[in-house]
Amino acid sequence: MSAPTAPADLVILGGGSGGYAAALRAAELGLSVVLIERDKVGGTCLHRGCIPTKALLHSGEVADNAREGEQFGVKTSLAGIDMDGVNAYKDGVISKLYKGLQGLIKSRAITYVEGEGRLVSPTAVAVGDTTYEGRHILLATGSYARSLPGIDIDGTKVITSDHALELDRVPTSAIILGGGVIGCEFASAWKSFGVDVTIVEALPHLVPLEDESSSKLLERAFRRRKIGFSLGSRVSGVQTTADGVRVELENSKSFEAELVLVAVGRGPVSQGLGYEEAGVAMDRGFVLVDEYCQTNVPTISAVGDLIPTLQLAHVGFGEGILVAERLAGLPVVPIDYAGVPRVTYSEPEVSSVGLTEAQAREKYGDAIEVLTYDLGGNGRSQILKTAGAVKLVRAADGPVVGVHMVGSRVGELIAEAQLIYNWEAVPDEVAQLIHPHPTQSEALGEAHLALAGKPLHSHS
Ligand SMILES: Cc1cc2nc3c(=O)[nH]c(=O)nc-3n(C[C@H](O)[C@H](O)[C@H](O)COP(=O)(O)OP(=O)(O)OC[C@H]3O[C@@H](n4cnc5c(N)ncnc54)[C@H](O)[C@@H]3O)c2cc1C
Repeated sequence: MSAPTAPADLVILGGGSGGYAAALRAAELGLSVVLIERDKVGGTCLHRGCIPTKALLHSGEVADNAREGEQFGVKTSLAGIDMDGVNAYKDGVISKLYKGLQGLIKSRAITYVEGEGRLVSPTAVAVGDTTYEGRHILLATGSYARSLPGIDIDGTKVITSDHALELDRVPTSAIILGGGVIGCEFASAWKSFGVDVTIVEALPHLVPLEDESSSKLLERAFRRRKIGFSLGSRVSGVQTTADGVRVELENSKSFEAELVLVAVGRGPVSQGLGYEEAGVAMDRGFVLVDEYCQTNVPTISAVGDLIPTLQLAHVGFGEGILVAERLAGLPVVPIDYAGVPRVTYSEPEVSSVGLTEAQAREKYGDAIEVLTYDLGGNGRSQILKTAGAVKLVRAADGPVVGVHMVGSRVGELIAEAQLIYNWEAVPDEVAQLIHPHPTQSEALGEAHLALAGKPLHSHS
């Protein structure tokens, strides 16, 4: 072992959304920071998650536009999908953002260490022969794509999202195990590319964490797009065949396709990293923290997909910032996880913030009001030929406690909904705000007008 380096204020293990956000904010606040990453700074989100999937979905949207130009009076046709071209575009976006992020890390004088780190004490991480001591340690090692018992990922016919983002061809058909966010996004992008897609979901609905009405609207839209799905279906086995795969369900149905994408959730990367040995409390591999992302070991915090909170990049950013500010001695407020906006970037998109109707009923009993505004009444949505709705849930005579939207581009509307929820606005206050015409944001305005008892373009 080489001589230990001087202790830093903060040593961070993992340079994904959670880890690098903490590093940037801590450095900005004057703390000395060591950031340890075994692969590429930016982590899952930048290299294998948010960014590449959204690039793929955008290519899909362009393909749909080419295919459907006629309905807007434009003579277009889709000549085909060039996966090399799609991948070059996707990789170009990643590479630009990656360079930018590397530049930021450098400019904030963060000590960046490339290598596999391991927690060796409550105040130290070892990388090879070097030990990095820290007054405080942040664990941010993220997550990996989980599989189901008995399903072996071979990377060609049975794949995870990591492999799906590297495909050099458009498969003719695909089965997707899991109808959550990742499964629905791939289903949407692949269908746009012309793939025959079937989703298998064990729970009764697609995007099962969303309000049931949003799930139903997405299912209706997917049916229209001829994306197949089998709900309430548990997989009993996956076999590879000469030309592809066969997925068998417990209800004795089966599906065959060229490949199967396993998108059944993500597990924490925590095994063999010295966490238990340092005394960190864990549950099924997740590191347990309090509302300030502090573990039971006073010198160790944890953020991101490694802890059992929402597995979203912006949650990682928020948690990383919270830890940095707490360690720098700034006053911090715990995150209200219900107030975190959630988006599924399929076509159509699904977005939400706050409580679902079912959760609101659990919390407030029948003292809630629910209003659904159909996008059929929204000019811009009609121009885009998208269907869907804005659904509001409010505590009776109180603030809006849930906003749920389905339709093309409604992911962009969630930023306003987030303010409404987090500032505990009542419908009358939002109804006072004039929304630009014709935009889809008007649907949010109209829904609040209706809930405030003065509907404009909707029936009372
Ligand atoms: C296909 C897909 C699409 C997604 N789309 C979205 C989206 O649209 N919006 C959204 O908000 N979220 C999305 N997510 C989720 C998002 O990517 C994660 O929530 C986010 O990346 C979590 O950040 P993290 O820092 O906790 O972990 P990660 O990003 O996984 O980063 C952890 C880092 O730690 C490093 N590491 C692990 N172990 C070690 C070690 N021993 N030594 C050194 N380094 C180590 C890893 O190499 C990695 O870079 C998506 C995820 C996937 C898989």
